[in-house]
Formats: sequence, structure tokens, C-alpha cells
Amino acid sequence: MPRYRGRPDRYVAAWTQPDRVTGADRSVVIVLSTRGCRWFRETGGCHFCSYPLEGAGERVPPDLLVRQFERAYARHRPDGPHAVKLFTSGSLLDPEEVPDEALERILGRLARDPSVTEVSFESRPEFVTEERLERVTELLDGKPFEVGIGLETSDDRLRASLNKGFDFRAFARAVRRVRRFGGTPKAYLMLKLPPLSEAEAIEDTVRSAVDAHLAGCERVSVCPTTIHRDTPLERAWRAGLYRPPWLWSCVEVARRIKGLLGDRADVLVDTAGAGTPRGPSNCRRCSRRVARALRRFTVTQDVGVLEGLDCRCRRVWRALLAV
Ligand code: SF4
Ligand SMILES: [Zn+2]
Repeated sequence: MPRYRGRPDRYVAAWTQPDRVTGADRSVVIVLSTRGCRWFRETGGCHFCSYPLEGAGERVPPDLLVRQFERAYARHRPDGPHAVKLFTSGSLLDPEEVPDEALERILGRLARDPSVTEVSFESRPEFVTEERLERVTELLDGKPFEVGIGLETSDDRLRASLNKGFDFRAFARAVRRVRRFGGTPKAYLMLKLPPLSEAEAIEDTVRSAVDAHLAGCERVSVCPTTIHRDTPLERAWRAGLYRPPWLWSCVEVARRIKGLLGDRADVLVDTAGAGTPRGPSNCRRCSRRVARALRRFTVTQDVGVLEGLDCRCRRVWRALLAV
């Protein structure tokens, strides 16, 4: 049985970051502690993920969820315009995780705040229903919103091998629904899904970004794999059978996707865990510098900030792509 580490009265994490969002250049990220992702509870979850274990793992009453949010937001709310990203390590739109009453109070509070330029959250496609979107748009009362969906790859067979539990058609239907309700759909893509090689992974993510855009996404977020505790992927990593992607691969996909999609889509690169053994990395000399450039690219969408980056380890990476 998985052991949940969170508490019902404490949010998991919160921080402020420079970001690419509507009407501002930064966001507050708040991770709420909930019952956890239903897919994880019922099936053991996706093979690379143990995020839900950071949460409470039990039903969290609306009052406590609202209190978690209020505490996190009071501590991290910046002055001036900003977006608010509400994560649950699951689906904000799943009523088992976030009951109506909590959703109403949290979104209602954000709708009334003129400094909040956009509200963003994540959901699996099965919870992106007309009913839920109707409620969200009512509550947000015209405030822009973004719905992120963890597509990971547009390759159905590859996604199925990770126990993701939905196909591209379900994703595309959810994207269309979000657009119909005036929201901005975003695809999360995982760079270097097992069992892909470094070179195959680059091709997979570039292709998936184009497919997600053709399905209606105006934002794609590239998430280089990080190794979560107690997952099948961690076992492969410990056995030396898997390495998270190089940061050079992140640079490559960012440049190529931006080159293909141009102004039609924002390309975001997540640098969580960059430079650590469990996250994307180059050598010790350049990891921090390259991760910083990727963050700069995410905010500006200017591929120029990725030009001129170099290091001796880049040759190693290039040689690896050839095998
Ligand atoms: S990746 Fe998302 S859907 Fe899959 S187990 Fe983790 S939180 Fe649940
Ligand atoms: Zn290097």
C-alpha cells in the first residue's frame, strides 16, 4: 500500500515564479493536499508518477482545502498582476478531490481579485466535462483560465505502456471542450518516456507538440522526466537502465517546436529538478546555465536566448544521439 505523506490541513508546496501567462509575467503556484489522483488510487497510476503521495490520501473537507489555499496564497501572493496555478497532484476538476464547495470558494475569491490575470489548473480529460467547465466559467466570471492535461505523448501505444489510461481522441475531445468554454488548453508532454532513446525522445516530443497544437492547444509544456520515488521508473533508474534527458535535448526540442509552431503556440520548458541526478542534466559545469536559459526562453519565447550555449559535454550528447 502506498504511504501518503501529506496532511489534510497543510498545503503541499507554494512558490512564485517568472512565467508565460495572460496579462502578467509571473505566477503563484499552489499545490493543495487532497485525497489524491483517482487514477492513482484506483489503478496504481502512471508508471513514472508518485506525486499524489505528497497529498493527504484521504477526503479533505472543503473548509480545510480553502484554508490551505488561503494560507499559501497569503504567504506567496505578489503585489501586481500575476496568474494563479492551482495544482492538486491530480485533477482539480475531480469532485472527489476538490468538492464543489471548495471550488466555489477558491475560484470565487480569485475571480474578485483584479491582480489575478489568469487561473490555471490541471485535470485528466475524463473530468473536463461540460458541467464542470460551465461551473468554472460561471465562478471565474470572465477571468481567463487555462486547463493543463498530461498528454505526455501523442503516440497512443507509448502512452498505454505507461498506464496513462486515455487515448489521444479523449484528449482532443477535452481540448475542444475547454476551447468551447473560452479556456486555454495546454498539453503537458513528457520528454524521454521510457523506453525511448535520447534521439527517439526528441522526435517523439516534437511530433507530440505539433499534434497537440493541431488538436487545439495554444500552449505546450515540455516536462523532462524526473524520477519519482517508489515508481517502476525509479526501479529502472536504480538498475542503471534509465537516465533522465540531457538539458541539451530540452534545448533542442524547444528550438525545434518553436521553429515549427512560431507565434501560434507558447512553448514552455519545465526545469524542475534540473541539474540533479533525478532530473534533466548536462555536466556540472553547464547544467545551471542551460536551465537558466531555458527558463528565460519560457518567459520570452525568444529562441535567441538558446543560441550560443555550449560546453564540452555537448559533444558527448551529440555522439549519444548518433547511436
Ligand atoms: S501522472 Fe497524473 S494521472 Fe497519472 S498518476 Fe500522476 S497525477 Fe495521476
Ligand atoms: Zn556541460
